[in-house]
Order: sequence, then C-alpha cells, then structure tokens
Amino acid sequence: MKVYQRIFEYTPDALLLIDQAGRITLANAQAEILFGYDRSELIDQPVEMLVPSRVAARHVGHRNAFMAESHSRQMGAAVELFSQRKDGSEFPVDIMLSPMLIDDRHFTLCVARDITERKAAESRLKHQTAELQKLHAELKVLASRDSLTGLLNRRAFQEHAAQMLRTARRRKESAALLMIDLDHFKQINDCFGHAEGDHVLKMVAAALKATARENDIVARLGGEEFVVAVLGACETESVAAAERLRLAIAAIRSPKSGITASIGVTTCTPQMQKHEASLILGELLKQADRALYAAKHNGRNQVCHVNSLAQADTLL
Ligand code: GH3
Ligand code: MG
Ligand code: MG
Repeated sequence: MKVYQRIFEYTPDALLLIDQAGRITLANAQAEILFGYDRSELIDQPVEMLVPSRVAARHVGHRNAFMAESHSRQMGAAVELFSQRKDGSEFPVDIMLSPMLIDDRHFTLCVARDITERKAAESRLKHQTAELQKLHAELKVLASRDSLTGLLNRRAFQEHAAQMLRTARRRKESAALLMIDLDHFKQINDCFGHAEGDHVLKMVAAALKATARENDIVARLGGEEFVVAVLGACETESVAAAERLRLAIAAIRSPKSGITASIGVTTCTPQMQKHEASLILGELLKQADRALYAAKHNGRNQVCHVNSLAQADTLL
C-alpha cells in the first residue's frame, strides 16, 4: 500500500481525488505546487476553488452531470479548460478524469497538467504560419510582376497567355498577340539618361494598361519590349487594337522626349489550335516577332500583322 501512496505522491502531474459531493479528499505534492495551496487548504474543499470564478457556477452543473454518469475523460479533450491558482491567476490545463470505487464509495481521480507552454507554442506556430502564408502570397505577386512597371513579367505572361489560348480553344474563339517594341529607345537613355528612360517605360506601361481592355493580358517581356494578348480578336480586330495601343504610346507627353512604338501582330484562329497551348504560344511569339521586325524595317511607328508578310513555314 505504501508503494501506491508513494506513486500517488510523486506522480509528476497534479493528482486530486474528488468525492461524490465534489470535495477534494486527497491531493499530491504536484497539486500543491500547481495550484499554490498547502494541502491542508485543499482537503475537504469543493473542487470549484481550483476553477476560475467566472466559470465556477457552471462547473458545479458539469461536475454533477459527470458524477451521475461517470466515465473517464482523456487529456487534451476538445474543450479549452482553465484552472485558477491561489493567487487568482488563471492557466490553461489538460484534465483527465477517472471514476473509481473505494469501499463502495464513488470517487473521481483527477489528473491536471499545466499546458501554458504548449498553448504559447501553438499560438506562436499559428502566428508564424499566418505570417508565412502572407509572405508566400506577397512573394507570388512579386514573382509574377515586373518591378519597374508593375506589369506581369515574361514568366507570368507565358502562364496567363497559355491559359488564354486554352480558353480560346474551348470557346472556339480567336486570340491575338501584339508584340510592342519602343522605337529608338536607346536614344532616350543616351540623350536624357537612364532615369528618364525608366520614367518613359513606366508611362508606356500605364498607357498600355489604360488602353487595353480589362481582360487583355498586358506584360513587359523585358527591356523596352511589351506584349498584349487579346481573347476573341480576329485579324481585323487585333490590328485595330494594336493601332489603339500605338496611338496611346505616341500620345504620351514626356517633358523631355517623344516616344513611338512598332507593333507586330499575330492572330490564332480555332483551326490553328492543334497543339499544346505552350507550344502554340511559342510559335505565336515568333510570328509576332517577325511582324514586329517588318514594322521596324518599314519605318517604325506602325502596326504589321504577320498575315501581310510572305508566309514562311511554321508549326501552325
Ligand atoms: P529600335 O527602334 O530598333 O527598337 O531601337 P532601340 O534603341 O529601341 O533598340 P535597342 O535594342 O538598340 O535598345 C534598347 C534599349 O533599351 C537599350 C537598353 O539600354 C534600354 N533598356 C533596356 N531595359 C531598360 C530599362 O529597364 N531601363 C532603361 N532606362 N533602359 C532600358
Ligand atoms: Mg527591343
Ligand atoms: Mg526598341
């Protein structure tokens, strides 16, 4: 028997034996430490003295219900439980209850464990996870945007444009690519400095964004090269869209420099959609580039559709 008493006394969790009336009949050394009471202050007192005053009244009801139909209750059950020390301070606890019969009298063995540190670690982890999710979302935006103009970058354009081509195929619609390259841009840098060049690039990006339709994909491919993808535009409509963009760029009034752009256009009809979207996109970019080269060659500040060129063999 002495061994069992010792086990009770030295168990590293707080142990309380509660009688049918809810009074503490035994408490071990850890219970004294955990709750801050001397054992003599605990014995024969209602267990509610260890429950925060704000929930003590409700606890009596719960306790009576439990005693009426005793069953053991595991540590870490779903509800959050709090206990109260002698000094009135509260702390989160895990409670395990186990009914037992001693000399035909019903008792409940109560094991209490302070989980302040675990709760704090959980809350830190929750906070860190939320922070990480926020950073991840921010990084995703950063990774898809060109830092100077805020437009989509080349990588993001490829993703979005491939998606647009798939939509076009599903809806049996056309889609157009407009490749835009600023004319003699190097001269702006050379004459007015790199900062003015950057300023012009930002104004061009804003003009493209303002002139394009909401569903168009507008991106900076790099340097002074931009691209716009338009869903549902046939050849005539895509050339008209390119003209609108060209005029919008020519209308930019920079205090120091005027700017124009050459635009190469290609249109992808539903009949051309025989291959995987990213493969088609690669071909369309090549075609638009060829048309752009022709626009430059023909004197710049103009739009050229690839269909107006002598056809070369392509995949499409
Ligand atoms: P073209 O009409 O034939 O297109 O002539 P261009 O001068 O526009 O073409 P080129 O390819 O010779 O020059 C492009 C210039 O764009 C060269 C480069 O210094 C400048 N550039 C590229 N990226 C940036 C940038 O981020 N900021 C600035 N300010 N300049 C850039
Ligand atoms: Mg260029
Ligand atoms: Mg250029």
